[in-house]
Amino acid sequence: MNSFYDFIVVGSGISGCTFASSLNKRFSDASILLVEYGRRIGGRSTTRKSRKNKILEFDHGLPSISFGENISQDLLSIISPLIKSKKLIDITQDILVIDQFGELYHAYRNKKVYRSLPFMINFCEEIISQSINPQNINFLFQTITKSIRRKNDLWEVEINNQKFLSSKNLILSSSLIAHPRCLRILNIDSLPLRDAVIKGNDKTLDSLLRITSKQEYIKRKNYILHVLKSQIISKFNYKYLQIHFSRSIRDDFNFERIIFQVQSDGSMIIVLHCCSINSLFDRDFDEIIESLIMIFDKHKNFLDLFLQANFFDTMDWRASQPINNFVPKELNWSSISNIGFCGDWLDFDGCSCVEVAMNSSISLAQSIGWK
Ligand SMILES: Cc1cc2nc3c(=O)[nH]c(=O)nc-3n(C[C@H](O)[C@H](O)[C@H](O)COP(=O)(O)OP(=O)(O)OC[C@H]3O[C@@H](n4cnc5c(N)ncnc54)[C@H](O)[C@@H]3O)c2cc1C
Repeated sequence: MNSFYDFIVVGSGISGCTFASSLNKRFSDASILLVEYGRRIGGRSTTRKSRKNKILEFDHGLPSISFGENISQDLLSIISPLIKSKKLIDITQDILVIDQFGELYHAYRNKKVYRSLPFMINFCEEIISQSINPQNINFLFQTITKSIRRKNDLWEVEINNQKFLSSKNLILSSSLIAHPRCLRILNIDSLPLRDAVIKGNDKTLDSLLRITSKQEYIKRKNYILHVLKSQIISKFNYKYLQIHFSRSIRDDFNFERIIFQVQSDGSMIIVLHCCSINSLFDRDFDEIIESLIMIFDKHKNFLDLFLQANFFDTMDWRASQPINNFVPKELNWSSISNIGFCGDWLDFDGCSCVEVAMNSSISLAQSIGWK
């Protein structure tokens, strides 16, 4: 592994990958390293390979993707080939809503919802494979960026085991080391980005830090259930079924949606997404099953699944989605410090989540110079 790169990108989720691929299309000689805390590419859109049971593989974060009516041409140029080659498929018909009376109906009439095949992680892999010179895009997994320094016009990034990497340019695809929540999550005493540049020396960076520090996040917790191979699963009609809970169920239970994923051995993983703006309380497994049985009371096929389900795991998304104080797109690059920002914590023409993550990354890659 080299220790010097033209660009170091913190994070390899949809934004980090979109940035790297878009930059590579412009400057195919630039060396890029994505430093990622997780075991695999994808961030919140990644797919989990179970260590407990090697056969099981499922999406435990972002389950699908949708884009607004005014999707940008640049974003279309990334997703159109994927739709054409059926690597992104339309699953709108598999998305239902259940209301407090137990009625099930289709969630969307005028909007298309996609998922990547075979798993959501493949979306990021496909984005990377669209680059011109993929050898220049490198990954370092299970590696945390805990501190950063600006020295002689270069960035010095401290990773695991007190090792250092350096780069001409630094890109933060996550707000983590710019947001106060990192003190608790990374167990450190001060904000890495603030420490890196003296206050007053870089107005863009000062403004970004001021706005970011006020951002609040939705917290998400997913409960993962496993149902062994059975006749009920073999008769299950849907391939990518998601059921969203109506507003009143959300308010009562914090349940957001439930995703049914048939596994290669004929068993099924069910992922229940719970979300809350403030604190998320823990529920025990029996309580979860009781609530699901109450909600799906009218639907025997679902009741049978829940009655046979075993607890598999939980997944905490401690700060999964910013809800306010988004960073204006004008602050996405500082030419004083050669640092850029992309992701769903930026404000980008009224779009949200994945669309902002991608648009902000494309725009950053298009606007910065190199050499
Ligand atoms: C359960 C769930 C459901 C969701 N549902 C939807 C939905 O229906 N529709 C929608 O549009 N969006 C949804 N989202 C949000 C969507 O997943 C995100 O908007 C999108 O994936 C953001 O991608 P990103 O690359 O900007 O951020 P991330 O995917 O968070 O990527 C940032 C990466 O940076 C890494 N990282 C951060 N700090 C460091 C560090 N210091 N060192 C090393 N690595 C670091 C992280 O590990 C992460 O992999 C959902 C998210 C979750 C969790």
